[in-house]
Amino acid sequence: MTKHCLMVGAGLSGAVIGRLLAEAGHKITIRDTRDHVGGNCHTLRDPETGVLVHVYGPHIFHTDDAEVWEYVNRFETFLPYKNRVKTTSQGAVYSLPVNLHTINQFFGQTLRPDEARVFLEGKADTTITDPQTFEDQALRFVGRDLYEAFFKGYTIKQWGCSPTELPASILKRLPVRFNYDDNYFFHKFQGMPENGYTAMIARILDHDNIMVELNTPVTRAEAEGFDHVFYSGPIDGWFDFRLGRLGYRTLDFERFDYQGDYQGCAVMNYGDVDVPWTRITEHKHFAPWESHEGSVLYREFSRACGPDDIPYYPIRQVAEKTLLADYVELAKAERNVTFVGRLGTYRYLDMDVTIREALDCGRAFLASNGAEMPA
Ligand code: UDP
Repeated sequence: MTKHCLMVGAGLSGAVIGRLLAEAGHKITIRDTRDHVGGNCHTLRDPETGVLVHVYGPHIFHTDDAEVWEYVNRFETFLPYKNRVKTTSQGAVYSLPVNLHTINQFFGQTLRPDEARVFLEGKADTTITDPQTFEDQALRFVGRDLYEAFFKGYTIKQWGCSPTELPASILKRLPVRFNYDDNYFFHKFQGMPENGYTAMIARILDHDNIMVELNTPVTRAEAEGFDHVFYSGPIDGWFDFRLGRLGYRTLDFERFDYQGDYQGCAVMNYGDVDVPWTRITEHKHFAPWESHEGSVLYREFSRACGPDDIPYYPIRQVAEKTLLADYVELAKAERNVTFVGRLGTYRYLDMDVTIREALDCGRAFLASNGAEMPA
């Protein structure tokens, strides 16, 4: 039987689930309070310079999941792109993630891979056997010098607290390499959508059974008129924050323009705590196949998220996890509402994981509703 489903949020989760259900014959309404689809992946061509801008900060697509890679390529051409991040620290520029070049440059050495491994192990705090905090993880794997140069200041700025209060899992996102591979990610598939993420998501949403409504908030009463709701907004927001607010970091982007090439790479991090921004993004380097004389840059600042700010990074410290567990209990009691995505599940999710979860979620819905599975 055809269901009429409401997707709250036109980001990746809503688009991917919506498309799957639409292809199975269900009717989908997708609403977003913003004036564009794509959520925080939104890209926009700057009218003055022609540069494709990552409006809510840099997004680089990378995955090991072949089906997800195939999925995104069905809707947009992905061109090869490797994320090569640099960092400025204590008056010098280094290569990230920490690799053999970083180690040799930082310590003034000419070490080969095996020598560097032994050398860095000598710097590491080997008394830490089971690192739980960000700081312990750093001290155990790269030692104090590299930790203080590249991670401590950046992390204090990014998260607004001491790295001793953050889980080791945040740092585990970054590898340490004993070769000259400076690809930030270690995934089989990596690329950039030729025309941006918004174009890709608009194409995912381009289906006769999908109706997109922008600039339109959703009230609970309206939601009750649908057979099922997939909610990708903040989980606490669905419950009117009745148990309190889950903590997020928000970002401020200070745009500046430049004629020519300002920094020679897409992302330059700033490791020093006394530089107020965490990184500078030069958007045109995300599309090296394009040519623009003008350049659009963002200085990125992180701060605590207020009620009217855009939530970016879930904080997920102990207090938040307890509060989240209480909201999850409320969520379980909701009939016909599924909470999805980064905000709906309050997790730090990469785009590929978001798509994987959305595909799984959409399929589970179809399986339990007896609809035919799309090929
Ligand atoms: N990080 C750091 N220095 C850097 C880059 C990252 O200390 O130059 C830390 C920081 O705490 C950050 C985490 O490593 O939150 C994960 O980095 P990633 O680049 O994955 O962050 P994202 O791009 O998702 O903000």
